[in-house]
Amino acid sequence: METATFDAIVIGAGMAGATVAAHLAPDRRVVLVEAEEAAGYHSTGRSAAMYILNYGPPDARVLAGLSRSFFDSPPPGFTDHPLLRRRAAVFLARPGEAAEIERLLQEVPGVRAIGMAELKAMVPALKPDYAAAAAIEEDDFDIDVAALHQGFLRRFAACGGVLALRSRAGRIERRGGLWEVGTASGAVFRAPVLVDAAGAWSDEVARMAGVRPLELSPCRRTAVIVDPAPFEPENWPLICDVGDTWYARPEARTRLMVSPADETPVPPQDVQPEELDIAVAIERMQEALAIPVRRVERSWAGLRTFTPDHSLAFGWDGEAEGFFWCVGQGGWGIQTSPAAGRLVADMIAGRDPGPAGRVLTAIDPRRFKAAKAGGAGGPGG
Ligand SMILES: Cc1cc2nc3c(=O)[nH]c(=O)nc-3n(C[C@H](O)[C@H](O)[C@H](O)COP(=O)(O)OP(=O)(O)OC[C@H]3O[C@@H](n4cnc5c(N)ncnc54)[C@H](O)[C@@H]3O)c2cc1C
Repeated sequence: METATFDAIVIGAGMAGATVAAHLAPDRRVVLVEAEEAAGYHSTGRSAAMYILNYGPPDARVLAGLSRSFFDSPPPGFTDHPLLRRRAAVFLARPGEAAEIERLLQEVPGVRAIGMAELKAMVPALKPDYAAAAAIEEDDFDIDVAALHQGFLRRFAACGGVLALRSRAGRIERRGGLWEVGTASGAVFRAPVLVDAAGAWSDEVARMAGVRPLELSPCRRTAVIVDPAPFEPENWPLICDVGDTWYARPEARTRLMVSPADETPVPPQDVQPEELDIAVAIERMQEALAIPVRRVERSWAGLRTFTPDHSLAFGWDGEAEGFFWCVGQGGWGIQTSPAAGRLVADMIAGRDPGPAGRVLTAIDPRRFKAAKAGGAGGPGG
């Protein structure tokens, strides 16, 4: 049985674990432990791949904003493809929901009202009576998620990081000042710092380590791909209703991805779509868009994992020495990842996190453990 000692063990090679590992690797020996045979099999490979700046809780918006410069100009050699492609987001209000659009216009910077004629020119499939009002956020984007994820994994490897695939962590113990992680592959890893970036399984990983869970909630979200012919949606915006009951966005030039914006709590698992959610997605989209759906070409579901207050939870556990949480990325884990990875690495290294420092209070995982106040946390306790 192989045993190896590192400075840090990161559990989970989705976007969260990959970005943290890549930022830690230049000055630490890091092993990135992943249960599946390929990194990105779970939530990271199942997202809608959008960057919507004004989405999610305030801490996530700050990190999405701080990620923008990385997306626009990643370091040389990071990727051959642009990471972002501009795609506006349009919010539609049904009759009776116009106040919601007013609220968006007043509260959300960068959003403007859009008239129905302008909208119809953008989305010719829009039915005339569906929306009573609409707003548009123009500075939004599609993200090349695979290029981003692979770019971080390549950087990690280039710095000497070890990616251990097919290595589900099944035993986690603290011994002699080190975390010891036994994996399904038989390998055992030891390190003073353990980063829990296991997405929907993060509470499970914590329980294994004898750490009190944060009561995370993995929620299923469904996506279906349809052929919108005779329409050509390549340059359509993301279209969503202001009440967040469905959205649609172009996929691979000639197809449309539609989601019922479901948020169904489920245990962590290799989640699959339910027939009812697929039907609801199509029905809601068809109320707004005159698109005849002959068949669903593909469908999938993924887990969006939330903390109890929906803000992120990045930080030392406070009760368990050397245990660092990097969880609760919900529906914004891709668009926040460049800044999130840097922030987490700075926190672990004890460096000044710069402008990201203003979210530290909001994202402190110890807020969920207040009833049983812990110590300061950190690698030394
Ligand atoms: C339908 C949908 C649409 C979305 N749209 C967007 C969007 O447009 N923009 C955006 O920014 N975000 C979006 N998201 C959210 C985004 O996908 C997630 O926030 C992000 O992928 C979370 O990354 P993660 O690394 O935390 O989780 P994951 O990618 O799930 O990675 C966790 C990893 O941990 C591994 N693991 C678990 N347990 C163990 C163990 N015991 N040992 C070893 N490994 C383990 C798992 O195998 C997994 O690979 C969407 C999500 C869904 C489902």
